[in-house]
Amino acid sequence: MEMLKAVSIKKEYGERFALDIEHLAISEGEILTCVGPNGSGKSTLIRILSLLEQPSAGRLFFRGREVQNLKGRRRLEVLRQMSVIFQDPIFFGRSVYDNVAVGLTFRRLSRAQKDQRVRQAIKEAGLEHLERADVSTLSGGEAQKVAFARAHALNTDLIFLDEPFANLDIEARRSYQAIVKNALKGRGKTAVFVTHDISEAAYLGDRVAVINEGSIVQAGAPSEVLFKPANAVVARFTGMENLLDGVVSSSSVGILTVRVDGGTIQAVGEEKAGTRLILGLRAEDIGLVPKDQLRLPSSFRNSYEAIVERVEPAGAVTRVFVKCPFSLVSYVTSRSAVEMGIVPGERIGVRFKATSVHVMGSGF
Ligand code: ADP
Ligand code: MG
Repeated sequence: MEMLKAVSIKKEYGERFALDIEHLAISEGEILTCVGPNGSGKSTLIRILSLLEQPSAGRLFFRGREVQNLKGRRRLEVLRQMSVIFQDPIFFGRSVYDNVAVGLTFRRLSRAQKDQRVRQAIKEAGLEHLERADVSTLSGGEAQKVAFARAHALNTDLIFLDEPFANLDIEARRSYQAIVKNALKGRGKTAVFVTHDISEAAYLGDRVAVINEGSIVQAGAPSEVLFKPANAVVARFTGMENLLDGVVSSSSVGILTVRVDGGTIQAVGEEKAGTRLILGLRAEDIGLVPKDQLRLPSSFRNSYEAIVERVEPAGAVTRVFVKCPFSLVSYVTSRSAVEMGIVPGERIGVRFKATSVHVMGSGF
């Protein structure tokens, strides 16, 4: 059953389109994550879906009812079934308990009912030990949990979260992500969660929609978006660092030979000779070996002798830029980078499987 549906929604600010969404539906009980770079229209989308702002054009349905033009009490009725958590929540200078309870002030509930709801939300947000704490003394992560508990106490069927973790360090982020996911799933909530972080989107979402320049460029299961990006924009955004323009030179039993600048690459595909396409390769799928090892038999369809151009240690992994003769970047563990003596100017073996090469249309 559909909870929310947006059809041909557009939003312009002056001359510029901030949003142009052909179709977006959110099912009952689903967590949809919308992921895209800063300025791609995520907050605008949330403001429109949550009826805080009117679209310039298009239609919005909440449980089958058209809602984008509702006014007054009818609009309020729908608003009461939604809650929104913003990136920078506003608090009152009092206790965690008071701040969580504030959303329930105007709900027709007995004191005991309110108290029960507030305590339950505080518990599910992992804030029990801070119930009486002054909000001004909280860390950024704790403050965000208060914002979540406040919305969770409202117990609305639909909840919107606009980059609630954006300002948190990695540890706080991980603990908060798990808390929010469990709390939402535990109550079977429907949620739209917006973030610029693809791994966060993939972790939290039942479905991920990638948004770029105001439009949805791909929507699907997290693994689909991560491993089968629909185009180069999505591929780059999901961290596929190697993207190469190519033309199919021959095709035989499902294996393509693709000409790229300075060489050929074998990939899996059904495209005909002459087809222009883009090849995507994750840096972690490209193996580096001592160049003598290339002569040994192996199942890698792609192997090259290359020159190391640049080496960038980044903690546990090292990024190695090689020329073979087309340019690629590979990740190796920093330990093996040292053990193999990978330094600029060295000759090295590069290899990867045809199945690691992701074939995309060149329409971008
Ligand atoms: P995101 O949340 O993905 O960072 P936003 O939805 O905030 O992106 O913004 C999308 C685009 O719309 C941006 O180019 C932004 O400058 C523009 N925009 C957003 N809100 C307004 C506004 N109230 N007036 C004018 N332009 C706006
Ligand atoms: Mg935003």
